[in-house]
Amino acid sequence: MKNETYDVIVVGGGPSGMMAAGRAGELGARVLLIEKNDRLGKKLSLTGGRRCNITNAEFDDHLFLDNFPESKQFLFSPFSQFNVEDTFKFFKNQNLPLVIEDRKRAFPKSQSAEDVSLALVDYMKESGGVTIKLDASIESLIETDGIIKGVKTSAGSFDASSIILATGGLAAPDTGSTGDGLSILEKLGHTIKEPDSNLSPLRTSSKWVHGLSGISVDDMVLRYKQDNKTQLKLRGRLLFTHFGISGPLVINSAFKVKTLLKDGPVEASIDLFPDHDLGSLDKFILDFFEQHGKKFVRTALKELLQNKLVDTVLKLPGLRFGDVPARDVSKEQRKLLVHTLKDLNFPIKGTMGLEWSIVADGGVIPQEVDFKTMSSKLFPNLYLIGDIIDINRPSGGFSLQLCWTTGYVAGSHAVQKSI
Ligand SMILES: Cc1cc2nc3c(=O)[nH]c(=O)nc-3n(C[C@H](O)[C@H](O)[C@H](O)COP(=O)(O)OP(=O)(O)OC[C@H]3O[C@@H](n4cnc5c(N)ncnc54)[C@H](O)[C@@H]3O)c2cc1C
Repeated sequence: MKNETYDVIVVGGGPSGMMAAGRAGELGARVLLIEKNDRLGKKLSLTGGRRCNITNAEFDDHLFLDNFPESKQFLFSPFSQFNVEDTFKFFKNQNLPLVIEDRKRAFPKSQSAEDVSLALVDYMKESGGVTIKLDASIESLIETDGIIKGVKTSAGSFDASSIILATGGLAAPDTGSTGDGLSILEKLGHTIKEPDSNLSPLRTSSKWVHGLSGISVDDMVLRYKQDNKTQLKLRGRLLFTHFGISGPLVINSAFKVKTLLKDGPVEASIDLFPDHDLGSLDKFILDFFEQHGKKFVRTALKELLQNKLVDTVLKLPGLRFGDVPARDVSKEQRKLLVHTLKDLNFPIKGTMGLEWSIVADGGVIPQEVDFKTMSSKLFPNLYLIGDIIDINRPSGGFSLQLCWTTGYVAGSHAVQKSI
């Protein structure tokens, strides 16, 4: 029996796949979108704390692409076809206007990631050309003489003139992104950089850090040290978790920390009073303890720091004088306290792994992709988009903008090849 035939087959119903399918359909192609889950956009609906940080409102392509230091040169061409401004227009046209928050992060005005998925489903429906097949997992690409003819799936085989692979990377595998596309591409001869977690919270073995889970410090300085030398210094908000530390600052530093860990142990050091040096903090605490002389140290410090943080600090070795009146604290005890408040340190053991990562490093190396069209340089009618390509970037809407851009470009060019 002859396989069902389409102009374009898109594999993977995440953000990049839905954008590509909708675009190809809009241009008049008969498109089949294949997704192995029982619904589309499973990971998309979790993004941005379920609010979806849809892009980053930097409208200058050059400045936007500065956030992709290793891949900038590849990305000018696709961004000249669909950039951040186009993303704003696209979602506005889909009745999903965007609002801009701090750090230029853009979210749907409705504050719902689910709405982003629905907008993309509507886009595909409106195009009139997209058939969606759920609960179908692709097993291989059918290749003859260097041309991809179709796909073999758990629900049968399908043929098409162009195939767009949008199966994602390996971050958050329980959403369906299990790296299937990468193993398929490797078998076909593509070079795949081993996926590894990135944009991930960090892990420590220090139990007292785990005990602070749920506490956040709005303004501190975090240093990563190796061999007692500061390798990276960051200022901002930090979140303690039941395994270590998190928050945008930490997540965006995971790549650097992973690299440092390859050379040896890494220590994190938190400065809770970044506007003071040691001397001025000592003077400040001395005056503060004089003002609050009758109070226990623990009670007095709770006017400066959160309760749980104070209780934890006062359990650290040498600092067990919480139940001493502030005026009775010796100079040595005070100096030790001041040192600790400026250097709360603990070892970093690694990232939290792929399950906790927002993106995974690795994927098809960009050198094997023609970024003018997003086609594979090995198979001209095969297109590669979204997280499947190895492109390092920070958090803040940059990952999804890559999906919108690469999806749109592949959808446009796949049609030109197929009709
Ligand atoms: C918790 C979390 C929060 C995030 N928040 C943000 C954010 O706010 N902003 C941002 O820019 N980025 C965010 N990201 C990153 C962003 O979600 C990804 O970059 C994006 O989803 C990648 O899209 P994609 O289309 O390439 O792949 P995916 O979203 O991974 O979709 C791939 C699809 O392919 C399907 N698939 C896989 N294998 C097969 C197969 N064999 N057959 C058929 N289908 C298959 C999968 O089931 C899946 O639906 C976040 C990620 C996580 C995990």
